[in-house]
Amino acid sequence: MTAAQLQEKLYAFVRPGYPGITINVVDTADNVRQLYFTADKFEVLYPKQRYHYLRHLIPSDFYDKNLKDTEWFELAPNENPDELDYHHQETIDAIKTAILSILKDKVGFVALLDNKFISEDIKCFGDFRHSKNILTDLGFSDQDQFDIFHVLMNEGGYCDCEILYNVFSNSEYSKKYWKEKRE
Ligand SMILES: [Zn+2]
Repeated sequence: MTAAQLQEKLYAFVRPGYPGITINVVDTADNVRQLYFTADKFEVLYPKQRYHYLRHLIPSDFYDKNLKDTEWFELAPNENPDELDYHHQETIDAIKTAILSILKDKVGFVALLDNKFISEDIKCFGDFRHSKNILTDLGFSDQDQFDIFHVLMNEGGYCDCEILYNVFSNSEYSKKYWKEKRE
């Protein structure tokens, strides 16, 4: 498949979820195929979240056949590829236990977020806005939050509601969610 053909295919998969997205497929001189995705919606998301959402819009068989060895760059407008920041898996593994225990037992983050969903009936916007507000109020810096959210994403929490129903299954919201799913 040529770069131009792949670009068209990717637009077809991704545009329904990201109507204003720009996609560029580039073959480098040393034969690496790079995919550049640029969207306004990415501004409030971590690169790992952006990748997660994009990846879910692309069918697995298509991914396996055409995208396995490609390099991805998920950009907010005016962002450069070298600004994209991730955590390595080893780093996440090293900080995971401490962070989950702090969130649950030390600072009461889980109870605060749970309460917002249960008592205040807030909605999830597919991002971390509610959790970020809570963590900022609790005094966590941007760098702390970067560590925290990378642990949570690693556990399957890619947005506020998933933090509760995928990561902290003892929360009230999680129990309610899974109960409704079963019914
Ligand atoms: Zn959510």
